[in-house]
Amino acid sequence: MQQLEDPATKQDVLLTTLEGNDCAFCDGTLTQGRYKGNDAVVCSECETPTVQVW
Ligand SMILES: [Zn+2]
Repeated sequence: MQQLEDPATKQDVLLTTLEGNDCAFCDGTLTQGRYKGNDAVVCSECETPTVQVW
């Protein structure tokens, strides 16, 4: 049995999972955005990127 893994889907799941979490650095909420041209989850308050997807 081969397991097919779709990187794009995994990235989407990761971003969606993190979205809405509390920021680790302030009281802000994580939201999907762009950081240095890549998809990322960034804090809406301090804009600290939590995850970058290359
Ligand atoms: Zn923050």
